[in-house]
Amino acid sequence: MKFETLAIHAGRRIDSGTSAVMPPIILSTTFAREPDGSMPHGYEYTRSENPNRTALEQCLAALEGGAAAAAFASGQAATLAVLQTLASADHVIIPDDVYFGMRELTQHVLRRWGLQATAVNMADLDAVRAAVRPATRLIWAETPSNPLLTITDIEGVAAIAHEAGATCVVDNTWASPVGQSPLQLGADLVMHATTKYLGGHSDLLGGAIITRQEDELFSALQTIQKAGGAVPSPFDCWLLLRSISTLPYRVAAHTANAQRVAAFLHDHPRVVAVYYPGLPDHPGHAVAARQMRLFGGMMSILVQGGAAEAIAVAGRCRLFTRATSLGGVESLIEHRATTEGPNSKAPQNLLRISVGLEHADDLIDDLAQALA
Ligand SMILES: *Cc1c(COP(=O)(O)O)cnc(C)c1O
Repeated sequence: MKFETLAIHAGRRIDSGTSAVMPPIILSTTFAREPDGSMPHGYEYTRSENPNRTALEQCLAALEGGAAAAAFASGQAATLAVLQTLASADHVIIPDDVYFGMRELTQHVLRRWGLQATAVNMADLDAVRAAVRPATRLIWAETPSNPLLTITDIEGVAAIAHEAGATCVVDNTWASPVGQSPLQLGADLVMHATTKYLGGHSDLLGGAIITRQEDELFSALQTIQKAGGAVPSPFDCWLLLRSISTLPYRVAAHTANAQRVAAFLHDHPRVVAVYYPGLPDHPGHAVAARQMRLFGGMMSILVQGGAAEAIAVAGRCRLFTRATSLGGVESLIEHRATTEGPNSKAPQNLLRISVGLEHADDLIDDLAQALA
């Protein structure tokens, strides 16, 4: 079935107890056994399995074309679970432009466990190849990356990983499963902060790992998920599944708006650079056009001046809300270096923009007056 159909039907079924068309939220933490001790529906205890989480995981696996999925309480919990499958002294390659929290986990939290991490420019496959060591077990890609929207050739990185006997993971949060299918391009695992486009309304926190095959690595991940317990609540699973029904239409509209906003900003005299893969002069445009179906709703810009000028532009916005995060129906703008704090590598004059689903004319008017 096509994506739009899967988004509405995968993981859903009419409730057998009540015939409810929309699934009930099963808040019960525990499930009754039969007199012989068996569990008729396979559910025992909600940390291990819950009907709302099962439905969500089936849907996420279908949307990414994977064999199975594991849902987590946040994107970071999903990322941490992947890193926890590694042994101490294993080596990981990460992008030099990557979600700030990922860099924090590898460089501060897991360094104490002996994990080695090298950050490279993943737009450069030779740099990725040169960073491979005998101990390399994982290559983590994020494309488009955060906050510079660097594009990584997923097929190329997956081939390097497999040659080295390593796993290739792609953080597909920004593209969403509508925009890009990393498993079809050779990645072994896809990670999502479902907090973003999948949730789509800035009202739930969640993460997920989707696997190409149900192998030993995925079963290790499930053990970390169930024993570690960083699982989403039944209500968050239900809310997320509800949002996913409209995902393809939302991402298409986010992209159409972003294309218009990017074209406006590209020609603005007070904007020094626009990082949006849908612009033909973006250095990753050719690779993005090959591996992405839609370029998505995220972009960053450099404004003339430094931090003060960038913060002032955001300060004059009336329709864009000054806030971190992304993927919601409302447009957001943030001075990324302020959000990331003293360890940030984001340029001081960079503003990160999540283009929402308001009318593009109103978004452009707001940016025009803020930049004037
Ligand atoms: C937000 C985000 C994360 C982390 O997700 P949380 O749900 O906030 O833990 C990871 N990667 C990317 C690209 C993100 O945008």
